Amino acid sequence: MSTSSAGPPPLRRMIVPAIFVGALFLVVFLRQPNGPERPDQWVLTGRTMGTAFTVKTVVSPELGINQSAVETAVRNAVDAVDFAMSTYRYDSELSRFNRQGTTIFEISESLIEVVLEAQRVAELSAGAFDITVGPLVDAWGFGPDPVADPPDADTIAELMADSGFQLLEVDASKRTIRKNREALRCDLSAIAKGYAVDRVVDELDHLGLTDYMVEIGGEVSAVGTNAVGEAWRIGIELPETGTGGLWSAVALVDTAMATSGDYRNYYERDGVRISHTIDPRTGRPITHRLASVTVIHASCMTADALATALSVLGPEDGRELVEREGLAAFFLIRTDDDGFKEWASDGWPSEVVAGVIDVDRDEDE
Ligand code: FAD
Repeated sequence: MSTSSAGPPPLRRMIVPAIFVGALFLVVFLRQPNGPERPDQWVLTGRTMGTAFTVKTVVSPELGINQSAVETAVRNAVDAVDFAMSTYRYDSELSRFNRQGTTIFEISESLIEVVLEAQRVAELSAGAFDITVGPLVDAWGFGPDPVADPPDADTIAELMADSGFQLLEVDASKRTIRKNREALRCDLSAIAKGYAVDRVVDELDHLGLTDYMVEIGGEVSAVGTNAVGEAWRIGIELPETGTGGLWSAVALVDTAMATSGDYRNYYERDGVRISHTIDPRTGRPITHRLASVTVIHASCMTADALATALSVLGPEDGRELVEREGLAAFFLIRTDDDGFKEWASDGWPSEVVAGVIDVDRDEDE
C-alpha cells in the first residue's frame, strides 16, 4: 500500500531504533569484579531484516576456527532468511507468493518450515497468531509503506474478509502453498526473526562452536557459557519506550527466548496507543494491558510466534494458553498507576538474575 499524496502527513511510528533494542538492551552480563575476561570472545554486529543483530562467540584457540568463517556463516544465514521471507523485498520468495494469484506455489524448505510452524501456532491460539494478517498490518501503517490514516471500519471489514490462516493451504509433502483468495497475503515478521536466530545457531554449531549467544532484533538464543564461563544473562526490557531500562534478566542455557511488546513499535492517535500487534479477530491493534510477553523455548522460531500470539490474547486468555500448553512465559502487565506487575508461569525459570546488571553498550551500532 502506498501513501496517498493528499491529506495529513504520514503517521509517525514511535519505533525505538532497532539498533538500540538489539544492541543496547538485551545483551547483559553480570561482570565478575575480579574474574578474568577470556580473551577469545568475538563480537559480531550488523544489520538485517530492518533491525540489528549481535553474535557473541567464545572460541578456544585449539578449536582452530577463524573469525571470518564465523562472520561468513552468520551473514549467509541471516541473508538467506531475508531473501526468502521479507515483505520489504520485492524479489523475496514470500513477496513473489504474495503477488501471485491462487495457483499452487512451490516453496523452499526453509519457507515451508516457517509456514508450517506459523499455522500450528495459529491453530493453538485459535487464530490470535495469523500470518495472513499482512494487509491489516500494512493498512494500520506497520508494513513497508507509510499510510496517511488508519483504516476505517469498512476497509477493516474488507481486509478481514480476505484474510484468515484457514485460507492458506499448505501441503508439506509437496512443499507447496496456495491462497484460497487472490487478495490473501502473508507477513512473517512475527516469526522469521526467531527462525533466523535458529539458523545462525545451526551454522555456529556446524562450525564446531560450543559457547555463543545470537540475538536478532530482540530474539535470542544462548548456547554454552559466556566469556567468564557463566550462563549467558539476557535482559527483559522495562516496557517503556526509549528508557533502555531492564526489568530483570534470566540466565539462558542452550535455549531461546523471544519478547513481544506494545512499546517498541507504535504510534499515538488522539491520545490512543496504536500497537503494531493486530488482533486478527477484530482487525484492530490490541488494546489490553499486557505490555510485554517473553517466552522461553528450545526453538527461537516458536518462542517468537508464541510471544506474539500471547500478546494478542492478552493477560487472561494468554495465561490460559500458557497453562494449557505448559509454556515458559513471563508477562508484564500495566497497572492503573502507570507501573507494571509481573506474572510468570510455572515453567518459567525460578532463578531470575537480579541485582546490578551491566548493559553491554555498542554505541556505533
Ligand atoms: P513481533 O511481536 O515479533 O512481531 C510483530 C509483527 O508481526 C508486526 O509488526 C506485524 O508485522 C506482525 N503481526 C502483527 N500482528 C500479528 C498477528 N496477530 N499474527 C502474526 N503476525 C502479526 N523492517 C524494516 O523496517 N525494514 C526491512 O527491510 C525489514 N525487513 C524484514 C525482513 C524479514 C525477513 C522480517 C521477518 C522482518 C523485516 N522487517 C523489516 C520487519 C521488522 O524487523 C519488524 O519490525 C519485526 O519483524 C517485528 O518484530 P518485533 O520483534 O518488533 O515484533
